[in-house]
Amino acid sequence: MYHTMDDLNPKEVTLLEGFWKERNHLLADVIIPYQWDTLNNRTEGVPLSHAVENFRIAAKELEGIPGGTIFQDSDVAKWIEAASYSLMFQPNSELEASIDELVRLIEKSQHSNGYVNTFFTAKGIEQRWSDLEMGHELYCAGHLIEASITYYQATGKRRLMDVMIRYANLIAEEFGPEKGKLHAYDGHPEIEIALYRLAAASDDERYMNLADYFMNIRGSVRTMYATTNAEGARKPKSRWFEADYFVADKPIRSMTEVTGHAVRAMYLYAGMTDQCRHTGEPELWETLTELWNNLAQKRVYITGAIGSQSHGERFTVDYDLPPDRGYTETCASIGLVFWAWRMSLIDMDSRYADMIERAMYNGALSGISLDGKTYFYVNPLEIIPSITTFRHDMEHVLPHRAGWFDCACCPTNIARLIGSIGKYIYSFTDTHVYIHQYISSEAEVPLGNQKVSILQETKYPWNGEMHLTMHMQGSVQVSLSLRKPHWCDDFKLLVNGTEWDGWHMEKGYITIDRVWASSDTVALELEMPAKFFQADSRILDYCGKTALMRGPLVYCLEEIDNGAQLQELLIDQHGDIKVEEGVIQSSPTTTLLLDGYRETLRVEELYEPVRQNKRTKVRIKAIPYFQWGNRAKDQEMRVWFRTV
Ligand SMILES: [Zn+2]
Repeated sequence: MYHTMDDLNPKEVTLLEGFWKERNHLLADVIIPYQWDTLNNRTEGVPLSHAVENFRIAAKELEGIPGGTIFQDSDVAKWIEAASYSLMFQPNSELEASIDELVRLIEKSQHSNGYVNTFFTAKGIEQRWSDLEMGHELYCAGHLIEASITYYQATGKRRLMDVMIRYANLIAEEFGPEKGKLHAYDGHPEIEIALYRLAAASDDERYMNLADYFMNIRGSVRTMYATTNAEGARKPKSRWFEADYFVADKPIRSMTEVTGHAVRAMYLYAGMTDQCRHTGEPELWETLTELWNNLAQKRVYITGAIGSQSHGERFTVDYDLPPDRGYTETCASIGLVFWAWRMSLIDMDSRYADMIERAMYNGALSGISLDGKTYFYVNPLEIIPSITTFRHDMEHVLPHRAGWFDCACCPTNIARLIGSIGKYIYSFTDTHVYIHQYISSEAEVPLGNQKVSILQETKYPWNGEMHLTMHMQGSVQVSLSLRKPHWCDDFKLLVNGTEWDGWHMEKGYITIDRVWASSDTVALELEMPAKFFQADSRILDYCGKTALMRGPLVYCLEEIDNGAQLQELLIDQHGDIKVEEGVIQSSPTTTLLLDGYRETLRVEELYEPVRQNKRTKVRIKAIPYFQWGNRAKDQEMRVWFRTV
């Protein structure tokens, strides 16, 4: 069984100077305060959130009816979770007081039976569970449970966790296989992963059993038909979507393809993997592997984005990955990180940590601006603003980040991912430590029968060098595994300053077995040249096109650097590539300068017989995809381009 820093306490990892520490400073100094103001309706010019106000109403401290979406409580929960991670990084008594005040309100809004939900409190709690498919009650409960655990880990304060345990107990009383209980599951998975976390945090198996129940009943009943506890009144709701939208069209063990609403799918598969982790069931693992292969080999964007269609915010069919009108929601990439992480805890294969890297540095991080105040919900790989803003089938795509949304699931989700980044660095057994992500940090990892301090120093993702120093009492026999990223062909490994070839490769991890002594060092130098990538030719939109990566970062071309009509550019694959360090909006970057051409064709009657077109030599600038849209609004951008 592999352990994680989350099994101990994420506080055991301290971020040091580098890429993710900068982002955690931004989280503490800008993102958390900005989101707090917004959740309190204090940010000008953005849709009102009402999220905190709703709890005041539910706590009977304010008159009114709840505003915002029906799942607005989850924004509060995800903010508490992000703020809790931020407290681990940077203590802040004022912030802690704000959370405590919120916890007081949540507790006051709790019904005597344990129920917590602002919308259904307003409707009357006899209406609870009356719309499990779209009502998001268990989804909100799950996020509140997760928030309560993280706040407890950050501060040692149990009050919110006790509130949520009372709520979880009510859910366990009202749902389950026993006669007289509701035989149903939630339309939006989340309660499952939360209950697995709660089972571990409270050491109470009941919550694990309940999570297993929600997993196993999925696909065997249509939840909306079992959704009322009003005596005898089992009126079906009107069908918003087919069952596959809810990823509930078949029992989990019969699933073979990633389908349905992409965020729902990710949270569900993450829960299935939690279940498999504790049961060790081979059939479920086979299902998960099949689903993973379907996603990784046929249904994921190069940026780690997922969800190819806005209708149903969902997966479509194999190889359908349009760059300009996909759904590519920030939350879906975040969900992919959750799922991939859990897969890696069963099968220590680098493909999972590679996917985490792909999603977090690209499809997830593009969801937030470099100043921390604006957000993408949809993360396209190609934008032509005049077309995007006109077309009906692209109305979900914004050509610039927004300050908030009516449905604001993504901003608080990216905030908690940034805050929790430390937990994705390591996993370990008693005698083996895996380093999945290269992030400057210091961690206390229990190895052998002692705590080993691991100091990791790196400028990743800007360069591929990483330096480790270990400190311990005496010595310890431990295997150390370092991920060799999928994009890396060559590397150099040094132990105590001397090149070391006594390593072996274990499922994508460079592994060293030896007895370590205090102050031993390991240096890994991953070659990180800019590299061109092509796609499977069955992906319609990328046939004959090329993308550019350097290390884990996908690059893009932006109008501000290269002029409009980016499709006219051709990059010379064999030309010179100049790698330049710089800044974008005072945030460090590494840009690429490439040789290439612009091939412009202007034809009066639109079409003409083919002739040799004139090409003008140009230098083309590419920037990391996650940094696009930060220097000017409504710019053309593209990830896939033509080459010569
Ligand atoms: Zn979202």
